Amino acid sequence: MTDCIFCKIVNGEIPSNKVFEDEVSYAFRDINPQAPVHILIVPKKHVESCAVLGAEDEALVGKIFTNIAKIAKDEGLEKGFRVISNSGDDAGQTVHHLHFHILAGKAMGEGLVP
Ligand code: 5GP
Ligand code: ZN
Repeated sequence: MTDCIFCKIVNGEIPSNKVFEDEVSYAFRDINPQAPVHILIVPKKHVESCAVLGAEDEALVGKIFTNIAKIAKDEGLEKGFRVISNSGDDAGQTVHHLHFHILAGKAMGEGLVP
């Protein structure tokens, strides 16, 4: 995807503050953090959102979640963290490349939707 910001971040065309990388995924700090710790993890391949995931993506998504656990450990998030993936307009997805927000560093309470 030539016009996708996150594809450009993955291939280094747009600089980012890298947190973690493996063969299938890339994690970096959000440019506009919504919590003291705000990391995004994305698949290296372009996938639009959760809405288009298929059976062929099961290993990829599983790996991303194992990597989220690794990142949480490395970042010292013992007190907890929240994982969010916005999919589509009603969810407020602004970048149409699948990503998981990892939010932490403050008490976020029990509500999920503002
Ligand atoms: P969404 O609203 O699609 O769930 O989340 C997109 C996220 O990407 C937002 O939190 C936004 O701050 C972040 N973002 C957008 N452009 C860039 C960028 O160029 N670099 C980084 N590091 N984050 C970005
Ligand atoms: Zn992309």
